[in-house]
Amino acid sequence: MLVNARDMLIQARDGHYAVGQFNINNLEWTKAILLTAQELNSPVILGVSEGAGKYMGGFKTVAAMVKAMDESLGITVPVALHLDHGTYEGAKACLAAGFTSIMFDGSHYPIEENVAKTTELVALAHEMGVSVEAEVGAIGGEEDGVIGAGEVADPAECAKISALGIDFLAAGIGNIHGKYPANWKGLDFVALDAIHNSTDTIPLVLHGGTGIPADMIQKAINLGVSKINVNTECQLAFAAATRAYIEAGKDQQGKGFDPRKLLAPGFEAIKATVKDKMELFGSVGKA
Ligand SMILES: [Zn+2]
Repeated sequence: MLVNARDMLIQARDGHYAVGQFNINNLEWTKAILLTAQELNSPVILGVSEGAGKYMGGFKTVAAMVKAMDESLGITVPVALHLDHGTYEGAKACLAAGFTSIMFDGSHYPIEENVAKTTELVALAHEMGVSVEAEVGAIGGEEDGVIGAGEVADPAECAKISALGIDFLAAGIGNIHGKYPANWKGLDFVALDAIHNSTDTIPLVLHGGTGIPADMIQKAINLGVSKINVNTECQLAFAAATRAYIEAGKDQQGKGFDPRKLLAPGFEAIKATVKDKMELFGSVGKA
């Protein structure tokens, strides 16, 4: 059931668990995530970066595929279709395409411009029943070609942005996108606590969920994180399973070249990864 992400994240915040955002890249990704959410009776957020939207043939294509699949597979758990790290133009395009949730990433603008653009997008989105995520303090690592330095967001700026009527807030707390380096210092829980206290209990979003140790995830949820983004981990699992299939020569046995067979191990690997994360985040049975 396609819905916006507002209510599911308020419930997660109040219930002290987090909803996973899993980024999609194609039909297999989408189907694996939807079926796992349904099997585990968990709410779920499908994330679409601007790059992935372009890759799949445009935001309209993505919205049509997700809506049709949600219906055809009989998915009854709450599913939000969410733009990940949207530009101002991208956010507007997703509203027109029928996304149920958008992120406007204005973190690279001066704070006043971030405020102005976020305000405008919140008004447009809410008129259409679409939820809005905003970002303060760039997330480290690579974000569709944009390199951030692992910043920690300023609680005063977080308060300013969260007061604009946004539904949930991404704030940098030392987290980064992609694989974490060996010398990573960990999440900054002092900063997270300060942000949580300055933002009037707005659900907080943790980006870069791949490879953060389970105890840090748990602590972050206890300190107000209600949405955790996972992208790289599904990609790594899919690649490893596909590599194993081909290295075992299975694509050269019988009809092993059939894409439905060739992509099956990767599909199952995504399902297993999503299941692990939903269990870790505590969203199982919360639909
Ligand atoms: Zn992110």
